[in-house]
Amino acid sequence: MDERSHISYDNPYESTMNMRFIRKLPIPRDVKQEYPVPDALREVRLKNIRAIRAVLSGESDKMLLIIGPCSADREDSVLEYMTRLRRVADQVSDKLVIVPRIYTNKPRTTGDGYKGMLHQPDPTGRPDVLTGILTIRDLHMKALTETGFSCADEMLYPENHRYMDDLLGYVAVGARSVENQGHRLTASGLDVPVGMKNPTSGDYSVMLNAITAAQHSHTFVYRNWEVESQGNPYAHAILRGYVNKHGQSQPNYHYEELIRLIEMYEKKDVANRAILIDTNHNNSAKRYLEQPRIAMDVVYQRKINADIRRYVKGFITESYLVDGCQKPEEAHVYGQSITDPCLGWEKTEDMIFRLAEQI
Ligand code: PEP
Ligand code: MN
Repeated sequence: MDERSHISYDNPYESTMNMRFIRKLPIPRDVKQEYPVPDALREVRLKNIRAIRAVLSGESDKMLLIIGPCSADREDSVLEYMTRLRRVADQVSDKLVIVPRIYTNKPRTTGDGYKGMLHQPDPTGRPDVLTGILTIRDLHMKALTETGFSCADEMLYPENHRYMDDLLGYVAVGARSVENQGHRLTASGLDVPVGMKNPTSGDYSVMLNAITAAQHSHTFVYRNWEVESQGNPYAHAILRGYVNKHGQSQPNYHYEELIRLIEMYEKKDVANRAILIDTNHNNSAKRYLEQPRIAMDVVYQRKINADIRRYVKGFITESYLVDGCQKPEEAHVYGQSITDPCLGWEKTEDMIFRLAEQI
């Protein structure tokens, strides 16, 4: 007997897959028609992207600072953070191009835990992806409208990128995704700069191969379409530390590490070679208070080595209103991270002013 004979072909959604198809979601075009980006804000976004590209290409000698909470958990505290950040960004705009993090999709080491606003628009509530899609588009839209920032997000699920592609200013491909073909090919079709993180194992060649793949044109399947990407000349590297085979956290922002990566990067036939340093994750071993020290250490390395100065073009820092982190299911402190621990606001402000003084 045909082992698939139990399938009823009358139901197009039925298959042998072991999951329940809950409901059909609106396609990105429909969501965008409902919530379009006004023309004036499209211009603001393009201007922001041009400023980021200029840093990555070396046309501008400012540094890039991608900064904000590990995860965007609620609208009010995220927008308050961004409003404060706007005031500071305007004061240091001759030295730093600041891009806030609004990270709405969270990868989890074991798959368990808070998956971000897309899946759980209410971090203490049940998953609700339909509300999640609308909530994250609304948050990115409000950020652009109220503060003029087009923000950074992690492209954890490439097929979801299209719900927000017209709002973002920067995209990161995370340490757990950077070896994945779908992420690399989708990155090759984005108009915003894409940062490729080193994988959790620390292997630089995986990150450099991801940059090469993203900088080239590809034909592939994206959201039920056969598409041809243009290649993204602004795909670049992000060092975030790594975990060794004994499970220990190891940094990779130190001098010898940077020199080694630059030697490998130099041999690659790619455009706009650039490295950003993630000051948290395995670079700080999540000792989040170390982040300003790590950034200043790298600023010093740029002063003593011309190659490091040429290559290292910025930082990614995890920061929020309140120091540290809390468990999502426990009482919620307004403005404190519910995923990785973040630097609180006063220390963040101090770090930004010190960076601007030193670079
Ligand atoms: C993050 O930026 O919060 C993150 C999850 O980064 P990584 O992919 O480096 O772990
Ligand atoms: Mn994080």
